[in-house]
Formats: sequence, C-alpha cells, structure tokens
Amino acid sequence: MNQTQQKGHPKGLYLLFVTEMWERFSYYGMRALFMLYMTQALLLNKETASEIYGSYTGLVYLTPLLGGYISDRYWGNRRSIVWGAIVMAIGQLLLFLSACYYTHISVAQPLMMAGLGALILGNGLFKPNISTMVGSLYAEGDNRKDSAFTIFYMGVNVGAMIAPLWCGLVGNTGHPEDFKWGFLSACIGMLIGALVFQLLKNRYIVTPEGAPIGMPPVPQAATVPEAEKPVAKENKVSYRRIIVAGLGTLVLLLLFSINWGSFSNPAISIFEGTDWIGSMIYACVIVMPLFIITDPSLTRLEQQRIGVIYIIAFFVIFFWAAYEQAGASLTFFADEQTDRMIGGWEMPAAYFQSFPALFVILLAPVFASLWSFLGRKGIEPASPVKQSIGLLLLSLGYLFIAFGVHGLEPGVKVSMMWLTGLYFIHTMGELSLAPIGLSMVYKLSPVRFSSLLMGVWYLSTSAANKLAGLLSSYYPEEGVEKSFLGYQVENLFDFFMVFVFMSGAAAVILFLLSSKLKKMMAGAE
Ligand code: GLN
Repeated sequence: MNQTQQKGHPKGLYLLFVTEMWERFSYYGMRALFMLYMTQALLLNKETASEIYGSYTGLVYLTPLLGGYISDRYWGNRRSIVWGAIVMAIGQLLLFLSACYYTHISVAQPLMMAGLGALILGNGLFKPNISTMVGSLYAEGDNRKDSAFTIFYMGVNVGAMIAPLWCGLVGNTGHPEDFKWGFLSACIGMLIGALVFQLLKNRYIVTPEGAPIGMPPVPQAATVPEAEKPVAKENKVSYRRIIVAGLGTLVLLLLFSINWGSFSNPAISIFEGTDWIGSMIYACVIVMPLFIITDPSLTRLEQQRIGVIYIIAFFVIFFWAAYEQAGASLTFFADEQTDRMIGGWEMPAAYFQSFPALFVILLAPVFASLWSFLGRKGIEPASPVKQSIGLLLLSLGYLFIAFGVHGLEPGVKVSMMWLTGLYFIHTMGELSLAPIGLSMVYKLSPVRFSSLLMGVWYLSTSAANKLAGLLSSYYPEEGVEKSFLGYQVENLFDFFMVFVFMSGAAAVILFLLSSKLKKMMAGAE
C-alpha cells in the first residue's frame, strides 16, 4: 500500500505522545505553583515574582534554538531528548529542595534559581527534538503528518490539563510547607516520561523497515575524500559569520536595553528599568533567524522554504501573545468579573486555565480526522490557510467576549458562558494553528536543520510570552488612564477589541499572502 494512503499511525507516535504528556505534566504542574510559591512561601512581592515568571517563560522557549543546534549537529534527537528530560528532572528536584528549605530564603532562593536554570536548559534540549521526531516517523510526502502532530498535541494537553489539578491538590493546600510535594510530583512525572522513552525507544522509534530514527547525524563530508575538503575556507567563513552574529546580537541587546528617556532627563540612568532578558530575547529573535537562513550550505530552494517558516512564525507571535492572556488578563477577568457560582459552589478562577487543555483533548480527534479526511479527498487547505483560520478564530473568540462585556458597569459580573465560549473558540483556532505549524516546520526544513528550525518556531512563543505580559498590562483599572498606540482603553470592551483587531488583521494579511507562500513552499506539503 502506498504510504500516502495509509490509515492509522505508527506505534512510535504513541510513545512520543506519552513521553510528551509526562514532560508537559511536569512543565505545567510546576508552572501552576510557581507564582504562588514565590509569593506565599518565599514572600517575594508580586512585581519581583512576575518578573521572574515572565523571564522564565520567555527563556524556556529561547533555549530550543540551542537544543536544536546541538541535536542537528552532534547528538541527534534521541540523546537530546533523554538528556533534556534528565536535566529537567534535576531542575524539578532543585525546586523541591528549595521548597523544603523555604523558611531559609538564603538557601531556598539560590536553589530555586539553579532549578529554573536547569529547567530552561533541559526544555531547550527536549522540546524541539521531540517535536521533530514526530515528523521523522513518516516518509516524505506522507499526508498523515498534520493529523499525527494533532494527536501528539493532544498528548501535550492531557499533561497540561491533569498537571495543575494534581500539583495544585498536593502543593497548593494553603500551607507553604506543601509546595514541595507539587514540585516532587513534577520531578517524578518527568522521570516517568524519561524512563518510558528510554526503555521503549529502540522498539518503536524506528522506520517501517526497523532502522532507528533520531540517531546522531552522519557528517556529510565524511563521504568526500579528505584531500578534497575545503576545510580552511569553510572554517574562516563560519568564524566570520559567528563574530558578525555575536556583534549584531550585542548591538541590538544594547539598543533594546537603553532607557532613551535618560538622554533628555539626567535624573534617569542609562539602563534604568531595563528588562535584560526581554532585550536578549528580542535581539535573538532578529539575529538568529538571519544567521540560519544565510548559512552558506543552503540552496536557494531551501532558503525560500525557510523564508516561509519565518513569515508564518512572525504572524504566530500575535497568536500566542493574544492566546496567552489566559494566564494573565483573562485570569483577572475570571477572578473579578465572572460569576463562577455553580449551584452553591464557587469555582476557583484558576480552574478556567484547564479549559483550553480540556477542549483540545475533546476536539483534537475531530480535527485529526478532519485533516485526514480532507487529505484523502485532496481538498485539504494549505498550512498558511489553516494558520490564518487559527488567527481568525482567535479574533472571533475575543469578539464574542467583547459582546458579553459591552456596556458593562465596573464591578458587575457576567455569566461564565462568555469566558467558556471564548476558550472553546480559541481552542479551535489553536488546533488549526499550533500542530499544523509544527508539521509545516518539519516539512519545510532541510533534514540537517530540522530541530534548529523547530527552535526558531518556538522562538516566536518566546517573543509572544514577553509581548503577552505587555499587552496584559493594558487591562483596564479604575482611575488609571491607559492607551495602546494612541487607542484609549477605557473599559473591558476596548481592551478585548485590541485583540480582535490584532489577530483579525494578522489573519487577513496571512490569508492574502497564503497563495504566494504556497508557491514558495514549492510542493513541500
Ligand atoms: N500548549 C503548547 C505546548 O505547551 C504551546 C506551545 C507553544 O508553541 N506556545 O506545547
């Protein structure tokens, strides 16, 4: 049977599903407790805690670039995944130890920082590599990839849904000494994932012929006789490129970090209020993709396809920046302006954060079979079209809630239906965009760059997490005047309309570009 017509999926997909499920359990379980731990156990103020939180969620999606590079160049996917998992388990263990000594801040805080560092590095090794591996289970041209990534994405969300419930139950009890149990659960979850992967990878992560997938790369030059290798010249070019990229990053870092107000006001120092990590992220977002696409080993066609990844990744920044309001402004909204009474029980505001994950789990099978079905009929929309549909649905979700709050007096609460509806619409958008994006990156990347480009894809999440924090700060507060690019944000309606316009405009522009992008993909779908 021709592979493109096959039904069902290789068993390896389910192994990756389970591994990623445990890893995301660990990630989201820790994330659910992290803010509370900092403010309730370590007694950090909200501002410091938010800063640490924002930097952590930004950096965790910056390091996949590094992990992608190491894997494509030296380790291959398998080894990177295993080491990433081990380093993350160590990170969670350090958080557990930090929480054991939470009353001794001078011990607890350095342990926490070391733990965060390990999580950031470990995620960098793990996340791009497990994503690439999903694609590598299928032959080129196999049209089951979009549906495979959608199933994989369900694994992400099974972990994301259970984690806050379990880690919240054992860790967030109102007694600060219990946080450690949440972190320990996250550590154990990660170890289970690592163990399952380690034990079963040789059996299941294989080609249909049984050859292992995800081994270290075979250097291409190995086939060329030693004397013919232009080593010296190549080394010179790559050193020069690295120096230029390094200097470029440094210059942008400084440009983003300077407090421009200090030139007109001597009372302000030049780096006052600088968010160094944010500046670093923005500098990398600009320099790294340029560095990769100008690699001398790439052909024009490869560059063109990588260009498509970049253009779409740019639009995706606006998707996640609006979507990630879930953990920020939408949680304030759930807390302050949503009637959460069910019978005689008031649902905690934080529970709303499990809704998107639950909806992904419910809707993913529907979407996976929809893509397969349309694929078999030959009428499946191209990736850029699916992604613009995703952005449009995001915009519609905000439009829906904007209606719900139109003309609402401050302090009045609206029905839960509005927020639930928003999350439902957003999830449909997420399923049209996120797994499809992973699949697209895989299909458009030259094999020797596939994990690195997956890292670039996650770079847009890194930038988006930073942008989300900024956008969330426009959440209306009584007595505080806020305006966004000259647009007055006086009430909730105005606030939600910012997202309607932002994602709506991105959807329309991407849609208009889609036929051009499809041509640039040159049959790589
Ligand atoms: N929910 C996804 C995950 O955790 C989001 C990833 C992203 O790119 N923003 O994997």
